[in-house]
Amino acid sequence: MDGEQAHRERVEQIAAVVNEARERGEKPRIVHGSSHSVRPGDDEADAAIHVEALHHFIEVDEEEQTVRMEPDITMRELVNKTLEHGLIPHVVPEFPTITVGGAIQGGAGESSCFRYGLFGDHCTEFEIVTGDGEVVTATREQHEDLFHGAMGSYGSLGILTEVSMDLLPAKDYVKLTYITVNGFEDAIRVMEEECESGADFIDGIMFSRDRGVIMVGKLTEEEDLPVSRFSRARDEWFYLHADSISRNHARYEELIPIKEYFFRYDIGAFWAIKYGFEDMHIPFNRLTRTVLHPFMNTAIAYKGGIHAGNFSSEYIIQDIITRQEDTLEMLEWTHDNLGIYPLWLLPLKPEEDAKLAPSYLETDLAINIGIWGRPQRDGIPREQKQQLEDKQIAVGARKTLYAQQFYTENEFWSIYDHDWYQELRDRYDATDAFPSVYEITHVDTLPEPSIRKSFRAMVKATFLS
Ligand SMILES: Cc1cc2nc3c(=O)[nH]c(=O)nc-3n(C[C@H](O)[C@H](O)[C@H](O)COP(=O)(O)OP(=O)(O)OC[C@H]3O[C@@H](n4cnc5c(N)ncnc54)[C@H](O)[C@@H]3O)c2cc1C
Repeated sequence: MDGEQAHRERVEQIAAVVNEARERGEKPRIVHGSSHSVRPGDDEADAAIHVEALHHFIEVDEEEQTVRMEPDITMRELVNKTLEHGLIPHVVPEFPTITVGGAIQGGAGESSCFRYGLFGDHCTEFEIVTGDGEVVTATREQHEDLFHGAMGSYGSLGILTEVSMDLLPAKDYVKLTYITVNGFEDAIRVMEEECESGADFIDGIMFSRDRGVIMVGKLTEEEDLPVSRFSRARDEWFYLHADSISRNHARYEELIPIKEYFFRYDIGAFWAIKYGFEDMHIPFNRLTRTVLHPFMNTAIAYKGGIHAGNFSSEYIIQDIITRQEDTLEMLEWTHDNLGIYPLWLLPLKPEEDAKLAPSYLETDLAINIGIWGRPQRDGIPREQKQQLEDKQIAVGARKTLYAQQFYTENEFWSIYDHDWYQELRDRYDATDAFPSVYEITHVDTLPEPSIRKSFRAMVKATFLS
């Protein structure tokens, strides 16, 4: 825990850097030491503001069930700290190195989103350094335009320097029920039904057009079922475990310790690291996964495969958030035009106030489709990504902007409210101080993938950090 005074000094330093950059006529990007965004690293930008020092807890209040912290705290640190006090966040994005600031600014979520909305929805206060170096406290009552605007703004409205958040009482385990489904329609129906069942967590995986599994979790203290774990070298990757269950059972229940549940997809980065085996011509089996375990977590995969190796140029790595009534159409299009499996399904409570958020959609329930893999239909990946954008716009869906976006400015502003956004940028002096959300997330050229660069970065990240 770090003192209020030390925090104030760090914030003053950042405000001074913002002022200096503006005086030089620069529009810096925010760099925070790691990133799960699939685009050229912001640390390669000409002008950057470093916020890695904002990495301290300020206060956990057990009675009020709240935490105050700086934004470069990671999900692993947040879960560890809150569990010390018998508490957990309402929503825990599933990769342990996602940061609090990145999750708010990037509109991150996970399997409790159908109940609680996005990660940012249980924040109660943001401290933000705006474009003129002023330190503003934004809540639902004061500077509410900035408070709601921050979610999904990708650092384009100011620098987040402190976050207050509500928490929930923790339990030791998640009792997870796996329900096998026989197609897209069945999967959507089961998710809709389970959203009304009092569950704490819901997500799903489609392994093919005709087989998938919806996983429904409930927090519990009871120890009446077998316990599974997914983080050790000897454990199976979570998605392979779920695949095997759905092949053999119509319904299956087990317990997962709470922290293992939150980060169940870390080893294997869902299934993305499977492609690394193909690219490096390594057989994909239990033995190789066990031996290579030190390289198998998301942080290493990002550093090596996505950022240094540029393998995202050849893959589709996109999340499309649809209204539930359009989900089937989007899934059928994905099957016909990309043929990528597994697909991840996540029901979400739609956003009503955060206009830049990926789930700002008019519907009772939104459903996120995670499309991560090598297209199995003929085509050029870059063009297939643009076709996916065209379809997403046509069905009135949104995509999360951690992914590469190729929209023209006109297309982009047909999805997001340009006049509202520009007014907000002007009001908080961001226009001349930070790049816009379009500039930050737009990708023009896709760099060539390189196995050599990827391998070097993975070794360095595993053994030298
Ligand atoms: C294969 C894959 C699967 C994914 N699955 C999921 C998923 O299931 N659920 C989910 O929620 N997300 C998922 N993501 C996306 C991920 O959660 C988001 O990209 C999230 O925003 C990453 O957070 P980060 O800490 O890495 O931040 P970054 O990606 O580095 O940052 C996001 C934005 O926030 C800005 N930012 C960071 N800190 C600050 C600050 N202090 N002040 C102002 N701006 C700041 C950055 O400049 C950047 O523009 C997935 C991504 C991939 C590639």
